[in-house]
Amino acid sequence: MTRTLADVALEAADCTRCRLSQGRTQVVFGVGNPEADLLFVGEAPGFHEDKQGEPFVGAAGQLLTRMLGEVLGRERHDVYICNVLKCRPPGNRDPQDDEIEACTPWLVEQVSQIQPRVIVTLGNFATKFVLNTQQGITRMRGRTYPWHGRTVIPTFHPAAILHGGGERSRQFTELVEDFELIRDTLSALERPPEPVVVPDARSDVEEDQLQLF
Ligand code: URA
Repeated sequence: MTRTLADVALEAADCTRCRLSQGRTQVVFGVGNPEADLLFVGEAPGFHEDKQGEPFVGAAGQLLTRMLGEVLGRERHDVYICNVLKCRPPGNRDPQDDEIEACTPWLVEQVSQIQPRVIVTLGNFATKFVLNTQQGITRMRGRTYPWHGRTVIPTFHPAAILHGGGERSRQFTELVEDFELIRDTLSALERPPEPVVVPDARSDVEEDQLQLF
């Protein structure tokens, strides 16, 4: 029988691969369309996510949901949303290396089941992890990166916008620009490829012949 994303989620629900299983309320596997063309990856569940079992449901999640609607014209169930870590680190501390290593197979399964065309990494942590870079988000954002036959688009973590200058900040304007880039990248993928124009060495000859008629 073929393994589905729901099967993987069920298996992950009992995960004890790292110490975070001891302090969690529940595993926050991910939410959305299992066949989405667009996957968002954040860092780790926070307080509200741990309680509700769904990623990005707190204030940062509300900003993400708003960007989805206002710039992409999409709802949460049209995309897939998850985190690198599926369990909340105590006090929202930074994920530790062995926790990331233990949790990575779940994200790998999510990507291989969903097969998204575009992956958006939210913030420094997810961007560094997915693109295997030490560069910070400010340098990485604003462009697309080819990644295993897909496209990765890094942008700010919505929580960083909320804790920074909010809607009047330069980061907020850049977040909107990044969502416009996501929108344009997705619509370019939907269009049939431009016809390839092969320069024809004989075209002058043919043009001369046409002029005979
Ligand atoms: N921050 C994250 O990175 N993920 C969540 O799900 C919530 C807040």
